[in-house]
Amino acid sequence: MNQDIEEHLRVTLEQQRAAFSSEPFPTLAIRRDRLARVRAMTAQHAQALAEAVSQDFENRAHQETMLTEVFTVQSAARHAMRHLPGWMKTRRVPTAMHFWPARNRLLRQPLGVVGVVSPWNYPYYLAMAPAVAALAAGNRVLIKPSELTPATSELMARMVRENFAPEEMQVVVGDADVGRAFTSLPFDHLFFTGSTAVGRIVAQAAAKNLTPVTLELGGKSPAFIDRSADLSLTAERLAFGKLLNAGQTCVAPDYVLAPREMVAPLVEALLARMRAMYPSLAGNADYTSIVSPRHHARLQALLDDARAKGARLVPTHTETAGGRKLVPHLVLDATEQMTVMQEEIFGPLLPIMAYDNANEAVDFIRRHDRPLALYWFGRDDQAQRQVMERTHAGGVTVNDCIWHLGQEEQPFGGVGASGIGAYHGEWGFRTFSKEKPIFEQSRFAGTKLFYPPYGATFNHL
Ligand code: NAD
Repeated sequence: MNQDIEEHLRVTLEQQRAAFSSEPFPTLAIRRDRLARVRAMTAQHAQALAEAVSQDFENRAHQETMLTEVFTVQSAARHAMRHLPGWMKTRRVPTAMHFWPARNRLLRQPLGVVGVVSPWNYPYYLAMAPAVAALAAGNRVLIKPSELTPATSELMARMVRENFAPEEMQVVVGDADVGRAFTSLPFDHLFFTGSTAVGRIVAQAAAKNLTPVTLELGGKSPAFIDRSADLSLTAERLAFGKLLNAGQTCVAPDYVLAPREMVAPLVEALLARMRAMYPSLAGNADYTSIVSPRHHARLQALLDDARAKGARLVPTHTETAGGRKLVPHLVLDATEQMTVMQEEIFGPLLPIMAYDNANEAVDFIRRHDRPLALYWFGRDDQAQRQVMERTHAGGVTVNDCIWHLGQEEQPFGGVGASGIGAYHGEWGFRTFSKEKPIFEQSRFAGTKLFYPPYGATFNHL
């Protein structure tokens, strides 16, 4: 581990902490100005971001980057700028009658210096969206993006350097070793997005400093197809959710649970939709490549393991995809013994498991780690309610995929192995604030009755 980087991290944290101490409660105008700078630099560099991400992935459609990295950051910042006056207000809180005329209130106070560690799959959005929430809440921010997207991370570091003072917000690039040094720092809050395995390590590192953490992790997000589902609509939306960014999306539908008699028509409909969305793969700029040769090999190994254990693999295309692109595959007759049903897939492979009775499918979900997302397709409200009430998931989209993530009015976060804590909109603001209860005693305090000498004071309780 490079001593210079460790030293740089420590010094930067101290500088940000000193700057925070001299401005512990930034005004609305200061916070809005910081968010406006995020918006301006994102707009100014949108095209460069699309190119950098595409370079990192070998190929990713510029339109996908505009939607998932540029538009998402812009709308998070816009939403925060609009709602900040309300979020920053000190809340009046009721006070129990026996404390009258004292008053309760709740102050939303910035925490101080926030650390953000982000993954490679949406390298700009997953670094900047938590940063937006932390800045809105009045904090200083230090970001450690992924080493697997070096062009985007370097560009983001430059954008931040040109638009923010280093003690306001800074990006420190580096690999897992830098991540380890970063997460051992005594931040006032640590916000980690990445795998469940690394999330456990980060939680332990943070525990040493009693630094509170938000962990945005992954998992196997099921798509539950009810018998009442419209197959054509379901297939279209599953195809989009699975193949966006070639399946490298934390909330991608990982696998499908479908009524046995619907599997064959669903497979046909999925193949048709996937081919319509991506008529070809190799020369098709719309179809994203796998982020690294190692990840490509991992996905290929999942397919080989499934085939060896008796799965039927159905490729969407007969052509080879070329480079680091991977041909999407439906994996039929998948079983729990296959690695593809044990690990988060994070690629364009879609196992489909048949069920005879909906309870079996519910039990299957309940037997496994609580997923980051759950998708339910159908028209039967009663059946939907059963699944909603009996299963846990970080968030749900009904009759579609992915889109619950885009809701600034709803919290986004995992549950159990898929994460701790939440952000987006006001939930992000609260994550990065200390909600400090203040009890203000009045000149005439009823609590005086409880002072010693006690005598018969408590006899009436
Ligand atoms: P990862 O856990 O390998 O890496 C994430 C970040 O942690 C990177 O910046 C990396 O450098 C750093 N890191 C690695 N080892 C570290 C260590 N020991 N200590 C400190 N930092 C360390 O994850 P990834 O492969 O970049 O991303 C894919 C995973 O992220 C998937 O599991 C996916 O589901 C999850 N994810 C979750 C969300 C969400 O919002 N919940 C969003 C995107 C991705």
